[in-house]
Amino acid sequence: MADLLAVDEALNRILNQLSPLPIEHIPLLAGYNRILAQSITAPTSLPPFANSSMDGYAVLAEDTTTATKDTPVSLEVVMDIPAGTFPQASLDNGQAARIMTGAPIPDGATAIIPVENTDGEWDKSASSGLKSPINIFRAVKHGDYIRPIGEDITAGDTIAHAGDKLRPQEIGVLASLGFATIPVFRRPRVVILSNGDELAELGQPLGQGQIYDSNRYTLAGIVLACDAEPLLLPTAKDTPESIRALFADALDQKPDMILSSAGVSVGAADFIRDILAELGNVDFWRINIRPGKPLAFGQIATIPFFGLPGNPVSAMVTFEVFVRPALYKMSGKQLPIPTIRARLSHTITSDGRESYLRVFLQKTADGTWSATLTGTQTSSALVSMSKADGLLILPAGTTIAHEGEFYPVRLLKSELLYSN
Ligand code: AMP
Ligand code: MG
Repeated sequence: MADLLAVDEALNRILNQLSPLPIEHIPLLAGYNRILAQSITAPTSLPPFANSSMDGYAVLAEDTTTATKDTPVSLEVVMDIPAGTFPQASLDNGQAARIMTGAPIPDGATAIIPVENTDGEWDKSASSGLKSPINIFRAVKHGDYIRPIGEDITAGDTIAHAGDKLRPQEIGVLASLGFATIPVFRRPRVVILSNGDELAELGQPLGQGQIYDSNRYTLAGIVLACDAEPLLLPTAKDTPESIRALFADALDQKPDMILSSAGVSVGAADFIRDILAELGNVDFWRINIRPGKPLAFGQIATIPFFGLPGNPVSAMVTFEVFVRPALYKMSGKQLPIPTIRARLSHTITSDGRESYLRVFLQKTADGTWSATLTGTQTSSALVSMSKADGLLILPAGTTIAHEGEFYPVRLLKSELLYSN
C-alpha cells in the first residue's frame, strides 16, 4: 500500500493550507456557541466593591461576641443601605446599618448579621421607618456574610480564552464585566454540492434507477454540528456543462469552503476531475483509509475544496476525519474531538488500511467500554452510522484485532461521555 497516502499525512497537508477566518465583532448574545477570537482580560474586579451576601445588618463583629438568644446585644440602627446605593457615613461601636443583599458595606463595618438572627423589622413599606434599636441574637465573626472585592474576578484576570466556545456561563461572565460586543471568528460558509444522474431531489418522485440525494443532507448536518453554515446547491447532472455551471454557482455564493461528494473514484465521471483541474489547483489522493480511499483536496479560485467519496458512509467518515478538523481550524476552534478507548468484544479483521469501523459501545462491570461491530461495514449502509455509537479506529497495518484489545473510538454520540 505504498502508493496510498497516510491519513495523518493527508490531514497535515490539509491543515497546513488553512488558517482561521477573519475576526468579527458581534453583539454579546449573538456570540452564543461562537468561538472567541481573542482572549479577554477583566477590566474591573468582581464584585467591584465589598457587599453583603445576606439581607441583614452591617455591624462591628466585636460588638456581637456575647450575643445569644437569651443575652441579646442591642445596637442602634443609624443607616439604611438598599442595593444600588452607596453608604455616606461610617459605623461606630454600638451601631448597625440595615443592609440588603448586594449593597455596599459601610466603612467601619466588619460583618453582616442576617435579619433572621435579629428582631429587626423588614417591612417593605417606606413609611414604617427604620426600627431602632434592634437586638442581635448571635455572634458573628470578622468577614461573615461579606463578599470581598474581587472574590469572583480580579481586574486583569484572563476570563475567557481565544478558541473557547461560548456557553451561557461565558456569555454571563462577559456580561457581568459589561462587554456589549465580543470578537469572534467568522463562521465558515460551506457550499455543499452533489452530482449524479441517479440522484433525485427530495419531494420529487423517484424515477427508475434513481435514489434520493442523501449526502448533501448528511454533510449539511455535520457542517451545522461544527457550528458552520451550510449552503446547499441543486444537484448537477453528469455532464461537463452541468458541473461547470455548478461550480460557477458555488463560487457565486462567496463561500469559505466547497464540499462535494462522489465522482472522485477512479474512472467515475472523469469530467469532474477535468473541470476541477480547469478551475483550480486540486490534488486527487488515494488515502490509506477505510472506508473512503479516494479524496480530492485543493483550492478553486483560492477557496478550499474537498471532493469526498460518493458512498454515504465514506462521505461521512472522511468528513469526520478530514473536514471536521479543517472546519475547526478555520473556525479558530480548539476543541478535542470526543474519543474514548474501548475493548473489542470479539476478534475482527481488516485489510491493513487505517479503518474506521462502526461499533456499538457498552459500559462493562469494571467501568471500561466494550465495542462490538454494528454488523456489515459496507460503505453504502448509512443506517449503520445512525445506529453506531462510535467509529473504532484500527491503525494502518493492522489486519487482525483480537478480542480484549483496546482501541480508540471516536464518539458519534457524545452524550455517551456522560453515561455511567
Ligand atoms: P460515484 O463516486 O459517483 O461513483 O458514487 C459512488 C456511490 O455513491 C454510488 O452508489 C452513488 O449512487 C452514491 N452516491 C453518489 N452521490 C450520492 C449522494 N449525493 N447521495 C447518496 N448517494 C450518493
Ligand atoms: Mg456518480
